[in-house]
Parts: sequence; structure tokens; C-alpha cells
Amino acid sequence: MEKVLKNKTAIVTGGSLGIGKETCLLLAEKGANVIVADINEEEGNHTTAEIRSAGGNAIFVFCDVSKEEQIESLCHQAKEFGRLDIFVSNAGVGGKPDYMHRLSTDEWNRLLLIDLTSVFWCHKYAVNSMLADKEGGVVVNISSAAGLGASPTLGGYAVAKAGVIELSLTAAVELATKNIRINVVCPGWTETAIIGFAGNRGKESMKKQIPMGRLGTTQEIASLIVFLASPESSFITGSVFRADGGLRS
Ligand code: NAP
Repeated sequence: MEKVLKNKTAIVTGGSLGIGKETCLLLAEKGANVIVADINEEEGNHTTAEIRSAGGNAIFVFCDVSKEEQIESLCHQAKEFGRLDIFVSNAGVGGKPDYMHRLSTDEWNRLLLIDLTSVFWCHKYAVNSMLADKEGGVVVNISSAAGLGASPTLGGYAVAKAGVIELSLTAAVELATKNIRINVVCPGWTETAIIGFAGNRGKESMKKQIPMGRLGTTQEIASLIVFLASPESSFITGSVFRADGGLRS
């Protein structure tokens, strides 16, 4: 595989498992130095070990994205590799499905903190780091198909993910002249732990709603994220990409 990201440093939040893990593996295959940032240290160490055994370069950094100071420190650590070139805001949590009027304020605050405010903090510290030496960079924010339309019973999550889209569209214009590109990926139902709440019956029902008749794979989402992080997408900024098997809700 061509090493188009050689000498680039990438941070992926939620990089220990699922879509984030697959993104870390693919970024490393393309030559990037990867910082796997997550609260799941055990799985994060597996991810970095997998990258190193394939000849790549990676470290694990514990980072809870609900803590602003941990994100600030994470962005500083990229300097160990030189500079921060790529930031993928991927960490996120789902909630127990329920109608919005039954959502507790605590659950609303939890979803907004982890799924939206954290993306603002990542944006702020990553972009300031990229602006410091005027070299620019790339940000890919992971939203969801749920953030693009009515998503009954996914209310708090969907509102947070819609916020991620608006944050990204606005920031992309703010930074367009600074050589910093910002794009959004909206996965549909993808086979990871986050959809574990649905159980096997729930997953079968998801598949029936998806025109392609199946769940997405982490590889299918990661390849889009890595394309947006790569020079091949150099004229793309402020764009929102669905990867959802044709699902329209
Ligand atoms: P996943 O398999 O559950 O992986 C998420 C990773 O993030 C896990 O390693 C998790 O650690 C970590 N994490 C959770 N809370 C964190 C925090 N506060 N700080 C740092 N790391 C944290 O999820 P995924 O499906 O790959 O989801 C990745 C992104 O895609 C999320 O933003 C999600 O909303 C979005 N997405 C997923 C789907 C889907 O169907 N899978 C659809 C649309 C959008 P633990 O293992 O310890 O929890």
C-alpha cells in the first residue's frame, strides 16, 4: 500500500475498538504515526501492538474525551512525533433508546458532553496546535446518520450528532484559508459494540431497514475516514459523507 501519510501524525479518539481501531490500523498502513486515544487501555494496547507488529508506529494515550484537560494534554503529546497533522474525533457513546420526553436530564447531559462538547474541545485544541506552525492539518469528525434526520428513540444522541455536523460546517469555512480541512462522516448501522443494545433480533430488524440489507463493516467506514485524512481529498472541506447502505430515515 502506498504510504501517502508517511511522516504524518494522527490522533484518533476512541481508537481502541470499533471504527476508531480500524481507522488507526489503516492510517498506520498508509504510513502515519498513530496516537490511539481512548479510555479502554487494554484494547488500546492491543491496537498499538497490532500496528507495531505490522511495521507501523503507534502509541496509546489514555484520554477520556469528557475531560477537557485530558484532550489538551493529548494534543500536546503529538509533538513527540513532530507535529499534529490529522485529528479524528471518533469517540462516542450511545444511550438506552427511549423517547425524548422520557430522557432524564442526567442522560441528556451525558450524551451532549461525550458526543458533542468533547468534539468542540478536540476541535479547539487540535486546531490551535495545527495553527501554531502554519502547516495546516486535517480534521475528520464522526457524526451519525442519526444526526441527519428524525431519529425516534435516539433523541439525545441524534441531537449531539447533528451538533457535530454544524460545528464542522462552520469551522471548515472559518479555517478554509488556513490549510485546515474539516469533514464529517455519518455512518449508518455498523457492526460494533455500540449497537450491542439491539441484540440479535434488533440487528436483524436494522438490516431490514437498510436498503443494502446488511450492516456496515468497520473497514467500510474507516476507508472513508482515511480518504478524507489523505492528500487525495485535498479540495474537500466542509462536506458531510453518509456511509449507511442507503438508509434514509
Ligand atoms: P465502539 O465500538 O463502542 O468504540 C468506541 C470506543 O470509544 C471504545 O473503545 C470506547 O471505550 C471508547 N470510548 C467510550 N467513551 C469514551 C470516552 N469518554 N473517551 C474516550 N474514549 C471513549 O463504537 P463505534 O461503533 O466504533 O463508534 C465510533 C463512532 O462512530 C462513535 O462516535 C459513534 O457514535 C459513531 N457511529 C457508530 C455507528 C455504529 O453503528 N457503530 C453508527 C453511527 C455512528 P470502551 O470500550 O471502554 O467503552
